[in-house]
Amino acid sequence: MPNRFCCKCGKSESEEPIVQGFCLSCYAKEFPLVLKIPEKGLQLTTCKLCGDLAYHSKWKEVEDDSTSIIDDFLREYLEKVKTVSSTKVIAISNIEEPPFGVASKQEVVIIFEGSPNEEVPAYQQEIVLPIKINAGVCERCGKFTGGYYESIVQIRSDQRKIKEKEQMFISQIIEQKRNQSLKDNRMAYISKTVDQIRGGIDLYIGDKNFAKNLASEIASHFAASIEYSTKLKSVKDGKPIYYTTYCVRLPNFEIGDLVRYQKGLFQIQMINNGRATLYNLRTKESKTLSQKDSTPEKIELYKKKKNLQKYIIMSLQKTTVSLMNLQTYETINVPRSSLVDDHEEGQETLLIELSDGYFECPI
Ligand SMILES: [Zn+2]
Ligand SMILES: [Zn+2]
Repeated sequence: MPNRFCCKCGKSESEEPIVQGFCLSCYAKEFPLVLKIPEKGLQLTTCKLCGDLAYHSKWKEVEDDSTSIIDDFLREYLEKVKTVSSTKVIAISNIEEPPFGVASKQEVVIIFEGSPNEEVPAYQQEIVLPIKINAGVCERCGKFTGGYYESIVQIRSDQRKIKEKEQMFISQIIEQKRNQSLKDNRMAYISKTVDQIRGGIDLYIGDKNFAKNLASEIASHFAASIEYSTKLKSVKDGKPIYYTTYCVRLPNFEIGDLVRYQKGLFQIQMINNGRATLYNLRTKESKTLSQKDSTPEKIELYKKKKNLQKYIIMSLQKTTVSLMNLQTYETINVPRSSLVDDHEEGQETLLIELSDGYFECPI
């Protein structure tokens, strides 16, 4: 076979394989793998306020590393780059971390590999792709700074103040729930927190589903009830805009309080994950209610623990116990069975007098 030469550069076959009249280097130049680069490169927007990034108005939360988000957008962009079929991206140079919330530019080198047809061995093409980041304000920050809210979560307590300990616990739940939700729901923000003078808290929330979840999460931890209402906020372009309010009512009962539940008299032993455990004063048995039953609608406060009478055990006999009321110094005798088993003389305990006798409230 006669020695063939490249029609472009004159290289001989002994130097480089000749395909369709070109040496491989000239072939690659003559027939680029990349046919069209859309939008003159990757155009992104960064939010001046939160530093999040968007591609074509699709915002993504930037956590620690914005380069991984840019990488995701870049891959989405590369899907739109027109290439010769069977061409693949085989390498992308490092993406630099852009400055926070301001416009910036950088370039990445992308290496494509492929071949237009079977006769031609695969070759590579290098593209220097500009990544331009413009500064703007994301939808969420726009709404957030404008004070936009879809829902209000009100936290109230029935006939008492919210305790500091409860407030701290509520803050913890809010923080945790928000961090969880922000990953999938960018509107899961709280634009305003208002502490009411009488001990309530109002949270103005960007998204009503987040508000609903948050309200039920708080309610379940406290055996609270939720009241729901929808109110007209404004009218925009002739259309009414509503907002929803979730009012979480913390119950007025707490651990140690006496309550009525289904006609029985109980002392609240525990409230855990929204389920109340009740101690039956008459049978001395405990039972844990379902979350549905552990609400102020089902459990009615009978007496606060702090209003129970305190007694000291004077003498403990086989069948009777003598106790002295520590407020009135009056002495009473009750059957031994009125008290729980493990008691010693000199111990203090709480009792309640009912029509059928005295009952110990051991919690
Ligand atoms: Zn050539
Ligand atoms: Zn933002």
